Amino acid sequence: MQRWNQPFPPYRVIDNIYYVGTNEIAQFLITTPAGHILLDTGFEASVPRLRDNFSALGFRYRDIKLILTSHAHIDHVQAHALVRRQTGATVVASEADAVFVEQGGKGETVYDGVFDWARCPVDRKVADGELVTLGGVTLTAHLTPGHTRGATTWTMPVTDHGRSLAVVFFPSANINPGVHLLGNARYPEIVHDFERSFATWKHLPCDVFLADHGEFYGMKAKHRLARSGASANPFIDGDGYRRYIADAERRFRAQLENER
Ligand SMILES: [Zn+2]
Repeated sequence: MQRWNQPFPPYRVIDNIYYVGTNEIAQFLITTPAGHILLDTGFEASVPRLRDNFSALGFRYRDIKLILTSHAHIDHVQAHALVRRQTGATVVASEADAVFVEQGGKGETVYDGVFDWARCPVDRKVADGELVTLGGVTLTAHLTPGHTRGATTWTMPVTDHGRSLAVVFFPSANINPGVHLLGNARYPEIVHDFERSFATWKHLPCDVFLADHGEFYGMKAKHRLARSGASANPFIDGDGYRRYIADAERRFRAQLENER
C-alpha cells in the first residue's frame, strides 16, 4: 500500500471541501465556522503530511472537531486514534463499522487477521439517514454495506456560482480479491447488502462525485483539469457517478453469475 501513500498537493475541491489526502487515498477536509470535519484519517504514516496539508491550505489541524468514516479498512481508519488524540475530535462511524474501528480491525469480514490498527473509541455511532451537523454544515450518512458491513456514503450540499449542488462521498463497492459472494461464512448477508446498496446509490442525487480512493472518480485527471483553469469545476460530474455505479453493479452481477 506504500504506492497509495505518496504525497499529493492539497487543494480546494469545491466550496468548503478540500482534498488533503495522498496520491490515491482520499481524505477530505470540510470547513465550517465552528471548526473542521475530516472524512477519513488514512495511514498513520501520512499524518505528518496531513498536518502539513492543513497548514498549506491555511487551516489549523487542531481545529478538527469531527472525524467521519467512509469504511473500516486500514487505509482509511488507521490514524483515527492518533488524530483523535491529537485534536480531541469526535469520531463518527456507522454502528456496524464502529465495531471494527473500536477493535482495531478484529472481526472485520475481509481483513481480520491480515491488517490491524490502533483501536479507536467511536464517540458517535450513526444509523441510516442520520444527520451530522457542525457550524451550519450538515452531512447525511447513508448506510451502503457490502465492501464492509458498515460502509457509509456521506452526502452534503455545496454552493457553486450560486447553484446548490449535491455532493456524494462514495466509499467503495469493490469485492476484494478472495471474497466470495455466495457461501461467505464471515459475511453471509453480503449479497443482500450489496443489492440494497446499489438501490441506494442509484437513487442518490449526485452533482459532485468524490470517493475515498482517487481512482474511483478520476481524481488526478480532474485535478489536472482544474489546475489548467477549466471554466467548469471538473469535480461536477454526476454522469461520471452514475456511470461508475452502473459499472460497479455490472461487476457485482458478473461475479455473482460466475459463482452460481
Ligand atoms: Zn476498503
